[in-house]
Amino acid sequence: MSIETHKTSLTDRALLGAAGLVAKTWPIAAKIFPEGPDIDTNQSLWAAQTPDYQGGQPLKGTISCDLAIIGGGFTGTSTAYHFSRRYPEKRVVLLEAKSLANGASGRNGGMMLNWVTGMTDDRPEMLKRVYDTTHAGIQTILEIVQRHNLKVSHRVDGTLTFYTDRKRAEAAHQEAEEHQAIGIPSQFIDMATLSKQLNAQGVYGAVLDPNSGQINGAQLVRGLRPVLVEQGVEIYENTPVLKIREGSTITLTTPQGEVHAKAIVLGTNGYTTRLGYFRDALFPLHSHVFATAPLTEEQRAELGWKAYAGYSDDLDRISYSTLTNEGNMVFGGGSNQSYAYLFNNRTAYPGTPLSAASSFRKMQSTMEDYLPGSERLPIAHRWTGTLGITLKRNNLMGVRGDNRNVFYAIGYCGHGVTLANISGQVLTDMYSGDDERWRGLPFHHATYAPIPPEPFRWFGYQVFTKLTGKSPRV
Ligand SMILES: Cc1cc2nc3c(=O)[nH]c(=O)nc-3n(C[C@H](O)[C@H](O)[C@H](O)COP(=O)(O)OP(=O)(O)OC[C@H]3O[C@@H](n4cnc5c(N)ncnc54)[C@H](O)[C@@H]3O)c2cc1C
Repeated sequence: MSIETHKTSLTDRALLGAAGLVAKTWPIAAKIFPEGPDIDTNQSLWAAQTPDYQGGQPLKGTISCDLAIIGGGFTGTSTAYHFSRRYPEKRVVLLEAKSLANGASGRNGGMMLNWVTGMTDDRPEMLKRVYDTTHAGIQTILEIVQRHNLKVSHRVDGTLTFYTDRKRAEAAHQEAEEHQAIGIPSQFIDMATLSKQLNAQGVYGAVLDPNSGQINGAQLVRGLRPVLVEQGVEIYENTPVLKIREGSTITLTTPQGEVHAKAIVLGTNGYTTRLGYFRDALFPLHSHVFATAPLTEEQRAELGWKAYAGYSDDLDRISYSTLTNEGNMVFGGGSNQSYAYLFNNRTAYPGTPLSAASSFRKMQSTMEDYLPGSERLPIAHRWTGTLGITLKRNNLMGVRGDNRNVFYAIGYCGHGVTLANISGQVLTDMYSGDDERWRGLPFHHATYAPIPPEPFRWFGYQVFTKLTGKSPRV
């Protein structure tokens, strides 16, 4: 959840090499370990802050359309929004397995960030281009909120990356100065300054991105529903797509109906492999998050959190925290136990978040290390969400299939709040054939490192986390 160009250690490289070799066994393994829809229910703070949301009806019967979007998160609604504005005459349907924002878009840490993860090209012109692209993406989100008068809690007063090691802090300081020299407003904050605004312990300095912030994704996605309907989009909720048959017209099978579409969008991120796509590119990573009840003025003062929307740290088992306008402190990650990969790409987290009580206790203790006294704060919400992770942490946007009619935007790792909201513009431009402005960006028709099939995938994750003591940095 911070900028990083991709630097790999020897162990990482050895594991990547082994993964590449074992990935060659995919054709056999894909038959032995089939996947299907597997989705649990959102229990996040963000969803709880949409108490009046009424989901729509499922699809019943057979329909035809120009574009069928699978998935009702940021990717799905962003594509529906931009596509239906560009092509008001085309019939667009959106199919969501549960309710809008049921997935990661309604379960994340709320950090609305610049940058993309897994960048390998750190030439100044590329850094500036990527920053400007994501900055424009955040501006577009805010414009949409304003244009349609959506009730979406958000703040854009900057987020921080904490550096927990003196040397890394020095390097980050230098990098922030290099950014400034090319017009990126990264700002190094030393401890004396930081402690007046956010009194974090165990930190040697932080980098502020003043153009980033925090947003309630469930309010954004669900708030867009009437806007999309007004723009002519047909939304079917409680409608999982069970099967996709490709052709010049694509057939989607749902429990009570069928859709014949000229083109489709995979807006299913971490759930995508369950549809049989990108099984060698993505793995779903479960991540736990909790939120306090709204803090009182005294509690905030005691905590020493006066400014900034949130922070993440520089460690592999990355932790991140935001403070909402309503005063809820949201915290995620922060220990190996707060992340899990489940055999054969399971995307539903078994049990309730309370059954992962020891993981949450460990997370609270990490939070306490940064913000002493915070462990005593009352926890009001605990939830788990599914990230879509690629081995090199790069996200992928493109079009595939013999008929070039399967569009996708997936694998955002921990940076999807901004990027998935940009995806609607990218995919609409790709559909139109005028996507020049996106070409050359790290996600545009990006390639990926292959991930081995089961049982090597599960085993590889266990070895990676046990051997290196790391969780995959998201
Ligand atoms: C715990 C957690 C914390 C995160 N924190 C941050 C953060 O602070 N900042 C940040 O930038 N990013 C963060 N992310 C990542 C970000 O939330 C995601 O990248 C982003 O929301 C992805 O949006 P999406 O629309 O592509 O996918 P999702 O929001 O996951 O939406 C996919 C939708 O597809 C539906 N679906 C799945 N299968 C089917 C099917 N067969 N048929 C129909 N519908 C289907 C699902 O129900 C779901 O609603 C976090 C993610 C998690 C899980």
